[in-house]
Amino acid sequence: MYGVASRNISNLIILEFIMIKEHCGVFGIVNHPEAAEITRLGLFALQHRGQESAGIFKCINGKCELHRGMGLVADVFPKLPREWRDSPGTMAIGHVRYSTAGKSVITNAQPFAVEFDKWNLAVAHNGTLSDAPRWRTHLKRTGAIFQGDFDTEIILHLAARRHRAGQPPWEAFEYALKNVEGAYSILALYEKGMAVARDPYGFRPLAMGRLGKAVVFSSETCAFDMIGAKYEREVEPGEIIFVTESGKIKSHCFSFSKRKAYCIFELVYFSRPDSMVFNESVYATRKRFGAVLADEHPVDADLIVPIPDSGMYAALGYSERSGIPFDLGIMRNHYVGRTFIRPSADDRKTAVNLKLNPIKEAIKGKRICLVEDSIVRGNTSRERVRTLRENGAKEVHMRISCPPHIQPCYYGIDFPSSDELIASRYSVDEIAKIIDADSLSYLSLDGMLSCVKQTCPKDYCHACFSGKYPVKPRLK
Ligand code: SF4
Repeated sequence: MYGVASRNISNLIILEFIMIKEHCGVFGIVNHPEAAEITRLGLFALQHRGQESAGIFKCINGKCELHRGMGLVADVFPKLPREWRDSPGTMAIGHVRYSTAGKSVITNAQPFAVEFDKWNLAVAHNGTLSDAPRWRTHLKRTGAIFQGDFDTEIILHLAARRHRAGQPPWEAFEYALKNVEGAYSILALYEKGMAVARDPYGFRPLAMGRLGKAVVFSSETCAFDMIGAKYEREVEPGEIIFVTESGKIKSHCFSFSKRKAYCIFELVYFSRPDSMVFNESVYATRKRFGAVLADEHPVDADLIVPIPDSGMYAALGYSERSGIPFDLGIMRNHYVGRTFIRPSADDRKTAVNLKLNPIKEAIKGKRICLVEDSIVRGNTSRERVRTLRENGAKEVHMRISCPPHIQPCYYGIDFPSSDELIASRYSVDEIAKIIDADSLSYLSLDGMLSCVKQTCPKDYCHACFSGKYPVKPRLK
């Protein structure tokens, strides 16, 4: 159990302002006359998974084209490019990116398109290869030239080499996937069809659906709701699916692992509550996190207040289970863009207030139980507690809907190094003092795993909480 009561101001740490937690989202469609437009809509639904760049690669009648740019989907694709409007493709893949691996530059934006044999091939990838540093060094030493510094290129180089050695292209692609380790949910498209694969551990989600005669794929099912598609199933870990231009499907298991490793943090934070991820309802799971948190760490408080938006559903679960009223005591400004939430150290206080502002009338004179999805570095939590007190809260207790983060992630989530993770340096008691909370408690690991219902809890990855890495990172 992770819990403690404390109340003392401490100035032990001031660290970098904010933990950026987004990563990538992928979307694909085959056999639809408006493929690029549907992909554009799908990317809007996946925007929460990455805001640095967006791109679409579409094919029709043997001709493929790429359009990508830096920024939000609305910036890059307010509409389809003019030259695409009369031919929006019959097949397309799309990507929204946050740079978990590689710099935030246009050369790293995806889909990543190359000439592969006589084809134009593009790849959209979500995840991080845990052996990427080793492969990159090896490939460079043996003559490979990299355009960007992201993992997807490694897969393409390996496939190209295998193809040059005589293997047919899709087999070469499959060979490349078999030989890398780590997390990937990947879509590859060329003039004749699409290949879709998920790593054998299943770290990142990937769902398959139908839209009339079209086959669709998405990181999350919320994109299916957006376009009116029907969710059919998950792409299985270790499965590769080939879809022809006309929508015919062939699938097989290309790599099997007994150990599965679904990222539990998708359910805690990343995925949208209106999605099904790993066959679980994100909404229902988050509410269960809150309910179990209330069982494990009850509090004497007048009000349960979520940190919007990420603490919302856990707070609802906590409130329902504890019987303490729920109220939206903090207003989130939805119009503050990412540039405004990455300030210099001097702007830290202003930036927190810019994004989240307590509602005095809701919190004044009350004992507040603040529910948050996680504490990573600790500095934003401290600011949040401070502003609640300044606005009249009598007490501020924090409840966190996952265990303390003590280790980095090597599978596509941008957690900082252990040194920067507050829970790897301080006890819960000390963290409570640092952030000036009257009490602080975290959901236990067992408690968190007890909340998943559709899949065996041992099939989840929880390495950032437990240090038990399902695939050892190979950094050299
Ligand atoms: Fe998810 Fe944490 Fe595992 Fe990374 S280490 S895949 S964030 S559970």
